Amino acid sequence: MIKQTTQKHSRYVGGHVSCAGGIPTSIGRAVGIGANCLQIFSASPRTWAKKPLEELPIDEFLIAHKEANMGPTFTHAVYLVNFASESRAARKKSVDTLIYDLQFDAAIGGSGVVVHLGSHQGRGWEAVRTQVAQEITTILENTPEHSTFLIENSAGQKGKLSSDLSEIRWLLDAVASPRLGWCLDTCHAFAAGYSFGSEDIPPDNIGKNEPRGDLFTQLETYDLFSTLQCIHVNDSKDLFASGRDRHQNIGEGSIPKEWFETLLQRPELKSMSLITEAPGFDGKGPDRENIERIRNLAR
Ligand SMILES: [Zn+2]
Repeated sequence: MIKQTTQKHSRYVGGHVSCAGGIPTSIGRAVGIGANCLQIFSASPRTWAKKPLEELPIDEFLIAHKEANMGPTFTHAVYLVNFASESRAARKKSVDTLIYDLQFDAAIGGSGVVVHLGSHQGRGWEAVRTQVAQEITTILENTPEHSTFLIENSAGQKGKLSSDLSEIRWLLDAVASPRLGWCLDTCHAFAAGYSFGSEDIPPDNIGKNEPRGDLFTQLETYDLFSTLQCIHVNDSKDLFASGRDRHQNIGEGSIPKEWFETLLQRPELKSMSLITEAPGFDGKGPDRENIERIRNLAR
């Protein structure tokens, strides 16, 4: 039995943890870093291969989850997904893997599957958006009611979908399902050029891309607070508006502390699960130190 030994916290703060040795092991790892919520992969994130769901020790996971008094569990989709691919076969693989992940999400009583939508590879957002919305709709039509698809914002890399929040708004409208929401990654928002604090960024910490303006103004403009379901709290190894996606430990990267505090203390975001995907101070992934730092910033 894995008992949660840490004190009761008013906020859900956790990290992405490994399922090596089977999904129930993730709970012990989450408890070990002082997390009260978590994110996992349903299988290896670098291959399409998945075990049949009925072969997974889901009951054991649910018991461990309950005994540890753990909060929300998010699933992260594989990195190979691309709904904007020109190849029908590639899109079919993306749809199939997400159908599996949403079934997995429903089976484990999860809070959603976080997805990078992929890249249009130079074709442009307008050329691919209808197709992307159709693929998401197909996934939702073929998965249980109690499963959720969460679009993650991207870091502004060339061709990557959903770096711009207007694209997330467009997809939410086009798909029009309460089972579609989104996840805000702080490192990606920063790298994409959204500011979320008042402290100025030193000029030598600003990248070459065009800034996209104030994050909160845009969340209000696009009415995106109510559909946000998770925040990935990561610092950035790269500059503001750099268009690069490399996570850093909290407090060790380019994002000002005041920006984290401003974001995490926003009244609209107080009930949000905060999940870190930081590299870890010993390089082994999200750890107790990163989670404690987030708790201090979020208060
Ligand atoms: Zn993320």
